[in-house]
Amino acid sequence: MAARHRLGNLDLLVLSDGTYYQDAGAVFGVVPRIMWERLAIPLNERYQMALGLNSLLVRSAGKTILIETGVGDKERVRAQSSPASEGTLLDGLRAVGVRPEDVDVVVNSHLHADHCGWNTRADDAGSFVPTFRRARYLIRRGEWEAATHPNERTRATYLPENILPLEAAGQLELIDGETKITDEVIVVDTPGHTADHASVLLASAGERAIYIGDMVQHSVQLERTAWVSSFDVFPLQAMETKKAVVRRAIDERELVVAVHCPYPGLGRLSETPDGKRRWTPVEANGGEV
Ligand SMILES: [Zn+2]
Repeated sequence: MAARHRLGNLDLLVLSDGTYYQDAGAVFGVVPRIMWERLAIPLNERYQMALGLNSLLVRSAGKTILIETGVGDKERVRAQSSPASEGTLLDGLRAVGVRPEDVDVVVNSHLHADHCGWNTRADDAGSFVPTFRRARYLIRRGEWEAATHPNERTRATYLPENILPLEAAGQLELIDGETKITDEVIVVDTPGHTADHASVLLASAGERAIYIGDMVQHSVQLERTAWVSSFDVFPLQAMETKKAVVRRAIDERELVVAVHCPYPGLGRLSETPDGKRRWTPVEANGGEV
């Protein structure tokens, strides 16, 4: 499935890699269960809640850019979710007429296993190779360092097979700070979830959007910025980043694209006169394609 959204002159397609179930207590971190229980989020038998896996395909300045590659088909990651995630991103691309070799640029917000799964896949001999064989893969230098030198806390989510084949194939491009892919598509620093977590700003003909990566797993975490997740490696920094991003999204009327909100993960933030924030889901203006 794919949802088309026109942003200025940009054609955005939200593609889903399926649904990923994550431990709800971990999603809500230090927030007591009696508070997040009021949201009445359905949980499975493993106390997991459903998260979207929304990737974004953008065509800009002649380039086909894929932001985030989902959980992919790595069995040990898929199996952590009950039921296992479907891994539908490549089917979605095919349905909109995009072959893996058509993708020019891949961007990962960070390298946790549910964000870069389709970066690679096994070839016929069982070796992992880049899925998008013509693409440059843009990854923040510090994130690459963290992923290739994991510690006992981060090791389980940084899969060597998702990342090392990119370097071996010469398709890895390490980036520092704000990086323009085109005049309309810019990778920006949004630290906290990991030290070098990135988001992607999209701007065209006076309209703006931000793809926020793993800044939140549920929209309530945008409304209540103190609600930071246990997955954040640097929670207080994550909170400060989120406050700045939410402020700008309200002031600039940015469309927010949230990877883990229910498909297609589009929404807008607003503020009541007494300072309460509100997330409103937005339907893709081009409908389902
Ligand atoms: Zn993450």
